[in-house]
Amino acid sequence: MEPAPPRLEIRNLVRRFGGQAVVDHVSLRVMPGQVTCLLGPSGCGKSTTLRMIAGVEMQDEGEIYVDGQLICDTVFRVPPERRAIGLMFQDFALFPHLSVAENVSFGLKGPKEARRARVEELLERVGMVRFIDGYPHELSGGEQQRVALARALAPRPRIMLMDEPFSGLDNRLRDDIRDQTLEILKQEDAAVLLVTHEPDEAMRMADEIALMRAGRIVQQGAPYNIYNAPVDRQAVAFFSDIN
Ligand code: ADP
Ligand code: MG
Repeated sequence: MEPAPPRLEIRNLVRRFGGQAVVDHVSLRVMPGQVTCLLGPSGCGKSTTLRMIAGVEMQDEGEIYVDGQLICDTVFRVPPERRAIGLMFQDFALFPHLSVAENVSFGLKGPKEARRARVEELLERVGMVRFIDGYPHELSGGEQQRVALARALAPRPRIMLMDEPFSGLDNRLRDDIRDQTLEILKQEDAAVLLVTHEPDEAMRMADEIALMRAGRIVQQGAPYNIYNAPVDRQAVAFFSDIN
């Protein structure tokens, strides 16, 4: 039997702005149930890579595959809403005029009872069920982040893209939320691509780290291996302020 293809695979993605490649032949594979971290300093092209996978920005070269099927190259393009991708960003971007329940059920289809059951299940899982009829402005940053996670997971995405989702939270909360988020993501069996500029976050959460610099992936592997055998002096320096 053929081994299962990666849930997400990108091949040689390139994005240029004004002649300059800010994403320069990036290739990656993410397996279901795994967290891959795209780790690198600010401005190295992480968010641009994620936006191309989400389908809200077009690549200049390269292909994107989901479960072995081409979803986007330079001529063919599955629209963002049909990519079964969940998104989570630093600004929680809950709809302020919708209740917690309405926020989580926003992307759901089907009968009302089934939608309600899924909303309750997810709010239970993120520990927010008591706020089900509350509104975003009544919640703390950490609580909003949990609702945003429930909302992103509600339609059972095959892929979760997370762009620095924890950087707006204070240190005290952050480790707890990272751990809880990881546990919930593992239960959902999505493939997770997590973008961060913080080595300690990547070390804590990733099954695999792709170290990015100036638009390119310079090293890729298990966190332990990357930490113990950095590819060059710049990588050593980048990891040295880990706490
Ligand atoms: P990161 O997420 O790693 O901080 P980004 O992907 O946001 O990096 O940006 C990578 C580089 O591309 C930066 O130099 C940024 O200024 C540039 N860039 C991003 N989007 C645009 C755009 N729409 N037009 C021009 N330059 C852009
Ligand atoms: Mg970014």
